[in-house]
Amino acid sequence: MERVEPDQINPATLRPEELEAVYAISRAVALAENIDSALDEIIRLARPVFIFDNMVLYLKGKDTLEPAYARAIGRGRFKEADLTWGEATAHEVIQTGKLLSRIEEGGEEIKDRTRFRFLLGLPLFLENNLEGALVFIRFGGPPYTPDQVRLSEFIAGLIAQLIGHDRLVKQIAQLEAEKKLNQLQEDFIATVSHELLTPLGFIKGYATTLLREDISWDEETRREFLTIIDEESDRLRELIENLMDSSRLQAGTLKMSFQLLRLDAFLRDVAMRALSLHDNIQIELQKDLPELRIMADPSRLAQVFDNLLTNASKYAPHSTVVISLIEEPQSICIKLSDNGPGIAPEHLSSIFKRFYRIPTPHQNQRGTGLGLFICRQIVNAHNGEIWAESEVGKGTTFYIRLPLNQQQFDQVLSLRESSA
Ligand code: ADP
Repeated sequence: MERVEPDQINPATLRPEELEAVYAISRAVALAENIDSALDEIIRLARPVFIFDNMVLYLKGKDTLEPAYARAIGRGRFKEADLTWGEATAHEVIQTGKLLSRIEEGGEEIKDRTRFRFLLGLPLFLENNLEGALVFIRFGGPPYTPDQVRLSEFIAGLIAQLIGHDRLVKQIAQLEAEKKLNQLQEDFIATVSHELLTPLGFIKGYATTLLREDISWDEETRREFLTIIDEESDRLRELIENLMDSSRLQAGTLKMSFQLLRLDAFLRDVAMRALSLHDNIQIELQKDLPELRIMADPSRLAQVFDNLLTNASKYAPHSTVVISLIEEPQSICIKLSDNGPGIAPEHLSSIFKRFYRIPTPHQNQRGTGLGLFICRQIVNAHNGEIWAESEVGKGTTFYIRLPLNQQQFDQVLSLRESSA
């Protein structure tokens, strides 16, 4: 079918309101944000000048003809009928590729004139490919006038353009998504390779140096080099463990082993360990920690706090990290506040995302952006929540809310009693 453009519609034969509708429809289509709202608009604008009761849009699938849009607006406005009416006409239009006007007769039980359905089927061509059919239905006539047929052809042409545009937009969005994913994967490989190669470079370099036969190293230098090799191997192991944890957490295959845990004693251990590992932060633990028991996987939960305190040492050095508890009716909230540089609001919601690192030109801290992602996954596996609040220049507070689940306690206690 040749496309009918507004200027091909003979204005002399159109009534002024029809002409107005043609231009209003063109404008609405150009402005519409999506295909459905454009179709709604077309119907709204066309119906006053071109009476029809149903409009159904069929699109060609692989071997099928699928109704993509249907509106019943006039007589015979019951929903279940929307999609099936006009199907035979649409099939015929697809087979012939031609406009089709015909009258169908409804069941004998319909006594009034709506028994006769006037159907107008129009092929939808997109760059010479037949993409579907548009069917208008009028219950009880009157027959379509030649100008109305021209108007409907014009509408079909616009709808074909809309479908083409919609397809293009979707293709572009898909390409963009694929490009983004590729970029993310490339960035990830680059980050991970860099992170793995750095410690490996040290290990290889110092081991090769120590193995040189032309130089003999004094004991002190030998120990220094071996210490570097030892530390960098630890770092390499830690990185690989983090990567593995992160993909297991993502896949939901990380095993958790829950047990009753004395939270106060646990936090004291966490603080002691962090103090022995990081000499650039102070830790102030709430003095009167209540004796609280929670259900947790101790080593995984320790990983969360170790991560947060390592981050404090990396990103908020010379801070005093205050650890305190907020008791809530059904849960306990653990608060860790540092007085470091803080995190700008635009980054705050992203820091828990996998591989997210705040881009700073002077970022000299090593990292993969996996730490907080792992923290969130572990806390979530405890049915808890973790989030951060921050003020630039003042510091950052991390909150970890864990449920106090009485039922779980009772189960563990009764198991213990029965096995005692
Ligand atoms: P990594 O430390 O490997 O970069 P994380 O997921 O642990 O990854 O942290 C994500 C980002 O959040 C870090 O790159 C850092 O910029 C920021 N960040 C984390 N903790 C703090 C903190 N206490 N103060 C300021 N920035 C922080």
